[in-house]
Amino acid sequence: MISDRQDIIRRELETGTGAAIGMAVDQTGTRTGLRLWFADLDDRHGPVAELRPYGIRGYRVALGFGKFAGEVVRQIQSAGAEDVGLARALVASISPTIDLDLFGQGRDDWRVDSGAFKITATARGLPENLDEAVTTVCRDAIVPLMAAMAELIGYDVIDEDDDEAQACEGAILVSTIRRRERNPRNRLLCIRLHGEKCACCGMEPRSVYGEAGGIIEVHHLEALSLLAAPRPYDPAIDLAPLCPNCHRAVHTRRPIPLSLSELRALMSPLMDMAAV
Ligand SMILES: [Zn+2]
Ligand SMILES: [Zn+2]
Repeated sequence: MISDRQDIIRRELETGTGAAIGMAVDQTGTRTGLRLWFADLDDRHGPVAELRPYGIRGYRVALGFGKFAGEVVRQIQSAGAEDVGLARALVASISPTIDLDLFGQGRDDWRVDSGAFKITATARGLPENLDEAVTTVCRDAIVPLMAAMAELIGYDVIDEDDDEAQACEGAILVSTIRRRERNPRNRLLCIRLHGEKCACCGMEPRSVYGEAGGIIEVHHLEALSLLAAPRPYDPAIDLAPLCPNCHRAVHTRRPIPLSLSELRALMSPLMDMAAV
């Protein structure tokens, strides 16, 4: 049953959004559904995703706002360009096999214009097993949609700036990179686009460490562009997945980290055999 899958769904949503999630099984319809929201806003003061069975082996997710979400909608409307860009990239990362309806708005330039804002995502041909179907639709649609909302609302990225980073030359650059690399929504987008294989050594932590392998990190590739600003930051192309070792190694040079090819050139030939 859906209710048995709530722990998995909550874990994936909380990891992907960086926010605490509330959820309830909804038995008001003829078929059991699931409602999800950000715990601190409850289901009336913020965005709510409703999951319902749709046809045979299909599910539909409807994302909308609660009755009293005016304040959060205003907050979303004042989100910065970088947050808006990441939110749109997360929605754009939803598989084309899922039918997205933005009610007249474009997939790449949508905005939350009022509390009546709505997105539906319809997935068809899901696994016959109900649990698997629910998990799939959560992973493929609810997580990116709710992560987009979390980014627009601006759930805090825990910033553990150490003194070393503050003191070194290029402190602003270092802290901007850290903020982006630690943002759970950037991590989610990076994994959705590039998978969990280290872009430097080719190691896939999940295949090595099993269920303890959710440790891939996000690396910001374009540190130089922050200095010269030749083009705006694009989370879809400026981020790469790195294993914790390679990530630590590229950041041994500061403030501009080693490039992936520079690190590969330093690595022993044995390690290099696994390179992508
Ligand atoms: Zn690596
Ligand atoms: Zn990095």
